[in-house]
Amino acid sequence: MVSNLLPTYARADLAFERGEGAWLISTGGERYLDFGSGVAVNVLGHAHPALVEALTDQAHKVWHVSNLFRIPDAERLAERLCAASFADLVFFCNSGAEAMECAIKTARKYHAVSGHPERVDIITYEGAFHGRTLATLAAGGQKKYLEGFGPVAGGFIQLPFADLEATKKAITDTTAAILIEPIQGEGGVRVVPPAFLRELRKLCDDNGLMLVFDEVQTGIGRTGELFGYMHSGIAPDIMALAKALGGGFPIGACLATAEAGKGMTVGTHGSTFGGNPLATRVGNAVLDVVLAPGFLDHSRRMSLLLKQRLAELKDRYPSVIADIRGEGLLLGLVCVGPNGDMVTALRDEKMLAIAAGDNVVRLLPPLIIDEAAVADGIAMIDRACAKLARAAAPETETAS
Ligand SMILES: *Cc1c(COP(=O)(O)O)cnc(C)c1O
Repeated sequence: MVSNLLPTYARADLAFERGEGAWLISTGGERYLDFGSGVAVNVLGHAHPALVEALTDQAHKVWHVSNLFRIPDAERLAERLCAASFADLVFFCNSGAEAMECAIKTARKYHAVSGHPERVDIITYEGAFHGRTLATLAAGGQKKYLEGFGPVAGGFIQLPFADLEATKKAITDTTAAILIEPIQGEGGVRVVPPAFLRELRKLCDDNGLMLVFDEVQTGIGRTGELFGYMHSGIAPDIMALAKALGGGFPIGACLATAEAGKGMTVGTHGSTFGGNPLATRVGNAVLDVVLAPGFLDHSRRMSLLLKQRLAELKDRYPSVIADIRGEGLLLGLVCVGPNGDMVTALRDEKMLAIAAGDNVVRLLPPLIIDEAAVADGIAMIDRACAKLARAAAPETETAS
């Protein structure tokens, strides 16, 4: 493959011409079941009529005006996100990393304007992923992503995954915030125990710290609740969103309580494109569907069905699947062999799924998936597992 694209991705030799719901049709005319959703983005699948209508209607009106003017769709989207969450204030941007940058700045600024400019350190956890900008890479703390890019942004302290004692010990006079994904996505669908999140809330309250949730992957219904934090019974002070918020149109958001956001006054932050009329019109259309009565109930039913069927496959193919984990439609197959082999075997069966850390394959179907697509998907995973089981133990017949 010769291409002028900067070769930072190991791309599959596959391109798509169009999509319909949970299916993508390749340029060669083959149909693929999309259990990757463009990495948890296409929450309503492909070419959803409500999104097509919103985008094309808005395209005929106005695309971009800058944030020097009021943007009615941005105001409406912010109001709806706040009404549906803990938050009072929203900053719109264009990606998850940018949403996280705003979250980090908001947490530090809160302390600066509260008379504690020394409070800058942010506690994060091993396996985290917060984006690819210099600060969010430092927050994620993965050496392989930081190497060769110069001085690592300071002020991030990484602790073992969900370690409460380590967290208590790490809090000092210079701690500003605790930052965590309620479920680590890139890190391998590692669910943070809700009890641990509740302990973090208490620690933050007791020590005057900001609790920051990175819900770039878990937000907008992916876990079966509108936001991942809702499973825990507590709420953060600041939250980053992106991926599913635009259903495929690039948009990110940083949400905060009025108190947490009190330092973010005129001139403290900005984005040229952030919250433009096209992006926020589409964001509103996504919410129209996701907030409609019964929508999340449907996705939870599909999750349950998928989990039950996956558990059967795990029992039938113990040499292939070590475990099933996750919440809602953010599910992980923990592989026995290399997860890359599973992604390839699934693709051979015409299913798209996504590798993650911890030797996991992520299954992230669009939330509009129906029982027929779940059945198709399970049949594909079944065939992929059978193939991998035969490869793992060629001399024995696959048990069934
Ligand atoms: C994808 C992701 C990001 C980064 O989002 P980009 O849009 O790629 O910048 C940050 N945090 C989490 C949890 C993510 O899953």
